[in-house]
Amino acid sequence: MNKFKLMSVRPEDCFLVEGKERILESYEPYLSDESKMDYKPVSAIFFPENTAQVVDAVKRTTGQGKGIVVSASRTGVTGGAIGVDNASIISLEKMTARLGEWHFQAGVKIEDIPVTDKDYYPVDPTEATASLGGTIATNASGPRTFHYGATRNHIKALTIVLADGSVLDIHRGEVVCENSKFVLQHRDGEIVIPIVGISMPPVKNTAGLFLKEDMDLVDLFIGSEGTLGIVTEAIVETAPLPVNRLFLVIYSDTESKALRLVEAIKSKPRFTCLAIEYFDHNAIALIRESDALLNIPGDVVCAVYLEILNGDEDIQEKIDETLASCGLDPEWTWAGFAEGDMLEMKRFRHDVPERVNAIIGARKVDIPGLHKIGTDTAVPEGQLRRILSFARSEVEKEGLQYIVFGHIGDNHLHVNMLPRSMEELKKAEKLHIAIAEESVRLGGTVSAEHGIGRLKKDLLKIQFTEGELAAMKSVKDALDPQGVLNPGVML
Ligand SMILES: Cc1cc2nc3c(=O)[nH]c(=O)nc-3n(C[C@H](O)[C@H](O)[C@H](O)COP(=O)(O)OP(=O)(O)OC[C@H]3O[C@@H](n4cnc5c(N)ncnc54)[C@H](O)[C@@H]3O)c2cc1C
Repeated sequence: MNKFKLMSVRPEDCFLVEGKERILESYEPYLSDESKMDYKPVSAIFFPENTAQVVDAVKRTTGQGKGIVVSASRTGVTGGAIGVDNASIISLEKMTARLGEWHFQAGVKIEDIPVTDKDYYPVDPTEATASLGGTIATNASGPRTFHYGATRNHIKALTIVLADGSVLDIHRGEVVCENSKFVLQHRDGEIVIPIVGISMPPVKNTAGLFLKEDMDLVDLFIGSEGTLGIVTEAIVETAPLPVNRLFLVIYSDTESKALRLVEAIKSKPRFTCLAIEYFDHNAIALIRESDALLNIPGDVVCAVYLEILNGDEDIQEKIDETLASCGLDPEWTWAGFAEGDMLEMKRFRHDVPERVNAIIGARKVDIPGLHKIGTDTAVPEGQLRRILSFARSEVEKEGLQYIVFGHIGDNHLHVNMLPRSMEELKKAEKLHIAIAEESVRLGGTVSAEHGIGRLKKDLLKIQFTEGELAAMKSVKDALDPQGVLNPGVML
């Protein structure tokens, strides 16, 4: 039997802000995240600087019978880090130290993880201010996931504080599930975590807990959204830094040509793509509005962004031929070779979700209950056109403002609906469910990268059977029997 010892770490005093009024006055941003969901004031926010201080914060909070909201950069879009009743917040934002070559505290921002002249950490959620711990908790992914896979593929080791204040320090390969359980040895006994394998779609997925009969214990915590433990440190797996990259924004005058291009690149690859992203006509209109400097030609309808490994001498020819075979004009591309070009194009990509959030933020001034509804579904190969045409026709039937953009290389497009009234919000909520149901019917997931949080809990039962949800609940009950960690998130 594979038994693993939990560590007892002596708690250290930690900086703490107390009092609901003081928090509302000076620390209100810590109560919300990018979901813009309604939040409740909390009576304490802890700002630990190391694992021992997280242990202190956990023990003090649970000792008062309160729940714990784990909070990092608060870029999450599903309400996982917002203030809730009868809970304290543990913010990881001060935990940004580098502890070894690729060993970091969990609060370090993705954009601050160094790049050497040989290696880099290739996970690139579009929002680079997201923290390492937050991206581990949500198994985040990004444009380059097309080539490198999601966060799960790049985590070698984790340090985790459990709900009872004990500390788990695990390296990948060290603890593998045996006889359908993990056994963690404690000073006062054992924690037995029952593992029942559940069906997981053959797509990028972060909905629900990751449960497989022969799984690694590290994987149980990745994507668990802070419901099983607080990640305080991680060792990441890097990839060789690509020496030469080419960045292309390929403009198209029809969506059909753009989709043909994506299919051609994936079915008969003639060059290596790290990322394939898509922006539909409404996303292009939004970028035009928000950033005139980007100067998008007038008759552009949609665009495909490619990041290409530029190793071949005849790369230009291969790209031109691929574009021509899809009816696209090689002259109609914005190409870049240097890091500066990539930053410009990143602005192009980043403008879209930011502008959506700004539009909804402005509407919320008059209608406080309003929020955007964004799908996060992915479908298996060959099903992209089906889900896209289903989503578009359903949303247009209801007359809602919407945009479609995202990680088309992974068959993972976000349909963002921007309601103008509470009535439209209700319609968008129904459409969200319909698109999630259709994605699952096509063999996909309800959430490919953002997670479930507090906002999308209703979607879990679309993807999982009652038995599968019960299997997840038994894992939660084993590790956190009082339900103190991230109450109301996911399960
Ligand atoms: C403009 C924009 C673009 C985005 N693009 C992408 C994208 O391309 N891909 C993508 O995956 N996401 C994207 N996101 C969503 C968001 O950036 C990710 O979900 C990110 O992983 C959240 O990290 P965070 O540090 O902000 O976590 P938070 O928002 O603070 O928390 C997110 C969840 O993780 C939990 N958590 C945080 N830290 C820890 C920890 N150390 N231990 C345990 N649990 C923890 C929280 O309790 C919460 O449930 C985008 C968001 C925005 C605003």
